[in-house]
Amino acid sequence: MLMPQTALGVNRELVPHMWVLAAMAVATVVLAAGPQWVVQAGYRCGLQALTGLRCPFCGMTRDFAAMLHGGRPALNPCSWVAAIMVYGLYPAAVLVGWRRGRLNYFHGAAVKYGVMAALAAMLVLNNLR
Ligand SMILES: [Zn+2]
Repeated sequence: MLMPQTALGVNRELVPHMWVLAAMAVATVVLAAGPQWVVQAGYRCGLQALTGLRCPFCGMTRDFAAMLHGGRPALNPCSWVAAIMVYGLYPAAVLVGWRRGRLNYFHGAAVKYGVMAALAAMLVLNNLR
């Protein structure tokens, strides 16, 4: 299948994934080098402020900072799974999809409903205590 390419010859479907991977790399470097810059920034979750519910990601910034410094995640029960997704499954899926010319599977119903189901499960799990 012929993939549309940018002026630089890069597969157009790969570009948004490269931005996501670059953002994940930058966030990882920031959390590894200076977690206090993020953790002490005073950010408060909008969902928690409005409803008192913890969103699917509440606690993950501090958990990822802890994991990057050899600690254990303790604030969100889904942090381990999220770390596996962020550092393993997603980059591998992008690599495989790119090599096979099948990056469009990210737009399929299985991924869409899988992500929705995962977020719903994470919301429940992060509010069980
Ligand atoms: Zn939150």
